[in-house]
Amino acid sequence: MKFSTKVVHAGVKPCPVTGAIMTPIYQTSTYVQAAPGDHKGYEYARTQNPTRDALQDAIAALENGKYGLCFASGMAATDAVVKLLQPGDEVIATNDLYGGTYRIFTKVFAKYGIVFRFVDMGNIEDIKSAVTPATRMLWVETPTNPLMKIVDIEAVTTIGKENNLLTVVDNTFASPYLQNPLDMGASIVLHSLTKYMAGHSDVVMGALITNEETLNNDLKFIQNSCGGVPGPQDCFLVLRGIKTLHVRMRQHCENGAKIAAFLANHPKVDKVYYPGLSTHLNHEVAKKQMKDFGGMLSFTLKNDSIEAALKVLTGTHLFSLAESLGGVESLIGHPATMTHASIPKEERLKAGLADTLIRLSVGIEDADDLIADLSAAIG
Ligand SMILES: *Cc1c(COP(=O)(O)O)cnc(C)c1O
Repeated sequence: MKFSTKVVHAGVKPCPVTGAIMTPIYQTSTYVQAAPGDHKGYEYARTQNPTRDALQDAIAALENGKYGLCFASGMAATDAVVKLLQPGDEVIATNDLYGGTYRIFTKVFAKYGIVFRFVDMGNIEDIKSAVTPATRMLWVETPTNPLMKIVDIEAVTTIGKENNLLTVVDNTFASPYLQNPLDMGASIVLHSLTKYMAGHSDVVMGALITNEETLNNDLKFIQNSCGGVPGPQDCFLVLRGIKTLHVRMRQHCENGAKIAAFLANHPKVDKVYYPGLSTHLNHEVAKKQMKDFGGMLSFTLKNDSIEAALKVLTGTHLFSLAESLGGVESLIGHPATMTHASIPKEERLKAGLADTLIRLSVGIEDADDLIADLSAAIG
């Protein structure tokens, strides 16, 4: 089945009782049993819920995976993955990481004895030399946030296989429309469904997808034991959102490319970070592994004062100043004080994240209107 057909149909079956074409919201915490242990596959809603099941199956299909699990947030999904590990185990992660992921690694799990090493995953030799006998997991995010670096997924999963490591790919920024890491050898794909997948800035949720039965069983055990599950109303919203994923992504990509070109030619703009630009450091890798280049980009101004950046950040009307990304409406953000404030300044600067960097989540509005809005704000 082609992707466009899957987003509309995967996981969803008409209700066997009424024929309702949309999966009902099973707003229940428990299920009646005919006799002790004689039930219809549903016992308690932390463990199973039919609305969640439909979503889990849909998401697995979109990532070409066998198994999908949904969590109360992207961070709850991350939490479940790290709980596969034991004290002393090591994780090698990209150094240009989502701020919340860096925070849970360094502030929550480090105190349980799990060791995190951050490397520039653009440099394959750096990953190889960070592997020790205690390494268990490679953690990839691509495109990275907010510098839009592209990590070669296949190169990383190859190192993972050679060293018997799990490779986790956070596919939030790309969405399964642009790339499918399981096809490139990843063990687990992670999503913040909050972003492109749900797509309407109205829900927080996360997901994990895998092809390996034992890994799925372990993650499902953690999902049920720790209980970070999403509610059925939210599952319904995400099921509705993903039906238009391909249509939205096409427009995000088209608008993203137009805005990147506009900024790249603007006399007051210094650097533009967008993987679709031929000048982008990893453009060739992006072309190899992505179908298109997405709607996320960031840039700096030639005037590198924080005041100049703040003037743009507060000067747009269509781009709203807000955290998050991937919704139909355009957002503008300041990583240093917003999404990446939890990363210490020295770490930020080491990763090349300037205090004047401006990040855009380009929505699906008319590109000319968005360009006029940015143009007025940049002045
Ligand atoms: C938002 C985000 C997360 C965390 O997801 P939540 O749904 O906010 O908990 C993880 N990774 C990336 C790349 C994200 O953008």
